[in-house]
Amino acid sequence: MLTADNTGVLHNFSPGPALLPAAVLEQAAVGIADFCGAGLSLLELSHRSEAYRRLQGEAMERWLRLYAVPEGYDVLFLQGGASTQFAMVPLNLLGAGDSADYVSTGRWSEKAIDEAAAVGVRHRVAASSADRNHSYIPRADQLDLDAAARYLHITSNNTIFGTQYPESPAVGTAPLVIDASSDLLSRPIAWERIGLLYGGAQKNAGISGLTVVCIRRDLISCRGSGVPTMMRYDTHAAADSLYNTPPTFAVLVLDLTMRWIEEQGGLAMVDAANRHKASLLYEVIDGDGFYEGHAEPAARSLMNVVFRIPADRALEPEFVSRAGEEGLIGLEGHRAAGGLRASIYNAMSVEGCRGLAEFMVAFRGRFG
Ligand SMILES: *Cc1c(COP(=O)(O)O)cnc(C)c1O
Repeated sequence: MLTADNTGVLHNFSPGPALLPAAVLEQAAVGIADFCGAGLSLLELSHRSEAYRRLQGEAMERWLRLYAVPEGYDVLFLQGGASTQFAMVPLNLLGAGDSADYVSTGRWSEKAIDEAAAVGVRHRVAASSADRNHSYIPRADQLDLDAAARYLHITSNNTIFGTQYPESPAVGTAPLVIDASSDLLSRPIAWERIGLLYGGAQKNAGISGLTVVCIRRDLISCRGSGVPTMMRYDTHAAADSLYNTPPTFAVLVLDLTMRWIEEQGGLAMVDAANRHKASLLYEVIDGDGFYEGHAEPAARSLMNVVFRIPADRALEPEFVSRAGEEGLIGLEGHRAAGGLRASIYNAMSVEGCRGLAEFMVAFRGRFG
């Protein structure tokens, strides 16, 4: 296949599961063949073994160090995806009579809100960007907050609509609960107001099967009643995330991904690279009216660049197929937002973004 930079490498812009650094794939393959020189594959190793427990402990420590998480938080390695957290958060954090606030900024926030309704807890929508098809992030002064809310739930990066909080909102007194599935480990974050941050690993932090929950210790004990054992944070915290069999291989891939981030110089360096990569694409989008970004500039995501070809939407499938011929794959938008989407997580190279930017310019030259 002909590729944009003639390296023969495909540039994978898929939203998730998404691309991984080449070094991570290579080292993960070693872990499958022979984990820690023990002569056994990690895939056939007991989660109670010394070797696995060491890996998991190191991965948890690396998470806390890399994210500069202050004292007082635990990290849990769970399963069930972010979608399971939509139910676990309200089940654990809300007791009888408690209520929570949610900000709706897209499909995933809506699902979190639906799930709070499904488990029957009291909750309110403090603000929603649905009025303009989730193209913006409500400002702090637009939030209608309940002073008694136990938490305020936000989605830090909206994978489908391509918006992202530039920083966590500093409003009210309730701790923030953040679904960070699609910008996990993409930038340093301020933990002061965060009570719980969760995300599936498969977009920016590894592979599917692992959900990371980072929770302030005072929120761990379950306030809900009748919550099944597996759905309780205190079950997993008390057992060091070994209450049942954890997704052992996905934990290895997370650890390798975090080691790769350390080699890049940590989250501040990765963040700078992400800003540069995104700017290459947004510059083309802003170049003239041929492309149009979905997100308002102030709310643009550094992870998912969502755009369309407003003058002729029929050109969008043509864009996807011609890009594919040049090795630029995974560019179709989500059915809820339509158009085109380039997911440019940590592992996407500058060359990949430059290749896509050049393709966009050439495509515009030909069809604009
Ligand atoms: C992908 C995604 C989810 C769903 O994650 P699963 O791990 O598949 O349950 C939830 N929230 C956001 C922001 C996502 O991008």
